[in-house]
Amino acid sequence: MNTAPLVSAHRALLAGWGKATPSTAELVEVDEAGLADAVKALPARGGIARGLGRSYGDPAQNSGGHVLRLVPSHDAVHIDDAAGVVTASAGVSLDDLLAVLVPRGWFVPVTPGTRFVTIGGAIASDIHGKNHHIEGSFGNHVTRLRLMLADTTVVDVGPDRDPELFWATVGGMGLTGMILDATFRLIPIETSRISVQTRRLGNLDDVMALMAESDSDFRYSVAWLDLLATGRHLGRGVLTNGEHARHDELDARAAGAPLAYVGKQLVDMPPVVPGPGVINRLSVAAFNELWFRKAPARRDGELQSIPAYFHPLDLVGDWNRVYGRRGFLQYQFVVPFEAEAALRTVIERLAAAALPIFLTVLKRFGPGNPGYLSFPTGGWTLAIDVPANRSGLSELLAGLDRIVLDAGGRHYLAKDFQTSADAIRRGYPRLDEWLAIRKRVDPAGVWASDLSRRLGLTPTA
Ligand SMILES: Cc1cc2nc3c(=O)[nH]c(=O)nc-3n(C[C@H](O)[C@H](O)[C@H](O)COP(=O)(O)OP(=O)(O)OC[C@H]3O[C@@H](n4cnc5c(N)ncnc54)[C@H](O)[C@@H]3O)c2cc1C
Repeated sequence: MNTAPLVSAHRALLAGWGKATPSTAELVEVDEAGLADAVKALPARGGIARGLGRSYGDPAQNSGGHVLRLVPSHDAVHIDDAAGVVTASAGVSLDDLLAVLVPRGWFVPVTPGTRFVTIGGAIASDIHGKNHHIEGSFGNHVTRLRLMLADTTVVDVGPDRDPELFWATVGGMGLTGMILDATFRLIPIETSRISVQTRRLGNLDDVMALMAESDSDFRYSVAWLDLLATGRHLGRGVLTNGEHARHDELDARAAGAPLAYVGKQLVDMPPVVPGPGVINRLSVAAFNELWFRKAPARRDGELQSIPAYFHPLDLVGDWNRVYGRRGFLQYQFVVPFEAEAALRTVIERLAAAALPIFLTVLKRFGPGNPGYLSFPTGGWTLAIDVPANRSGLSELLAGLDRIVLDAGGRHYLAKDFQTSADAIRRGYPRLDEWLAIRKRVDPAGVWASDLSRRLGLTPTA
């Protein structure tokens, strides 16, 4: 059946999830049939792909240019149960995918802290999850992808087919082309529950020691830290390790529907985050105290649902609005394992600054992959959410940037909105190799974003 290409366009003010640096662009919603024409029609400011806009900063914005959102086709997902792989359109979300996969006994290879991301966004940011220390990032599991280049040719690439272009696209923030679809490996599961081990730990040393000792025993591992605790409680936190539960771990009721899955979103705000307009040091200190005390000191084998363990924030629609009009930023970096002192200094500085930070995640990464701009690399990664535009915040973060870079670390492009081009150059030593590949496939810099201009990710003539 021949159907007409679907294209619609309107001017839109677009922001990342942090809402801190919006800009206006022509937002073009287009299916694969209409994409080549949409790319040929890009203006001098170029175009950039956008998924569900869950990056915190500006990679899916293109001020004064076009932003392209790929509408998935009706037959957007093909599961090969025998091979344990799925092929999905890049516009499909993990939310949609999980609803199909979990009841069939499969799980995505990597999930971030929200399931409202697209396959295109997952590959372009080479996202990591709580299993990075065991299974690496999303790109590690992709066997092939189809990419539309700036001249509208479509290429098939993978780790064994034009690996340079493949690894430049994994983590390439949409700047090598538009990913059309991808094939990736799945994790077989017996149940839709996660068996969770929780440990409440009184200070940073205890958190880091137990993470180092225990994370190789668990597929999933992450710690929440209280960054308002100081003195002997500095860096106190709650470590949660998890595994997909086996069928024989379920009680009789759950065993009747072992793969039941509901990815629900609540309308009201559960006590996961402080309410709107109350983000200040006192409210957040009280929240952190409650969150810390609410966790059991020690609990093993607690069965949690997939949304409760992986995506608790998704229970609250638009929770990013609690930060008000000025928005917020997420600051995420990684430092190598031998740089524990740098991590501690960053945490000390953040605690001393007494910022209202309630979402702080500490995790250990396993080795990185060949992705030129892929963020994860062996070491400790810390992510914090902070209200934007606070006085002294940019100076504080610039100071932290120096500590991170001097320690051999780097920043995550999907979260960034304030780092400098120099910081990215220092943190990503293979940047010039990536720029050369980008120049090969996009010499005129047709793919462009607010992030690419801000951080010098555009090849020079
Ligand atoms: C609550 C929350 C928790 C998060 N937790 C994590 C986490 O644990 N780990 C982690 O790694 N990240 C995490 N993130 C970040 C998120 O996973 C990434 O930013 C992801 O890229 C967002 O996907 P998206 O579809 O919304 O893409 P967008 O934000 O719309 O775009 C992100 C990048 O992908 C590119 N892109 C999108 N589609 C395509 C395509 N078809 N072809 C080429 N390029 C494309 C865009 O150009 C842009 O550069 C989290 C975000 C939120 C809001």
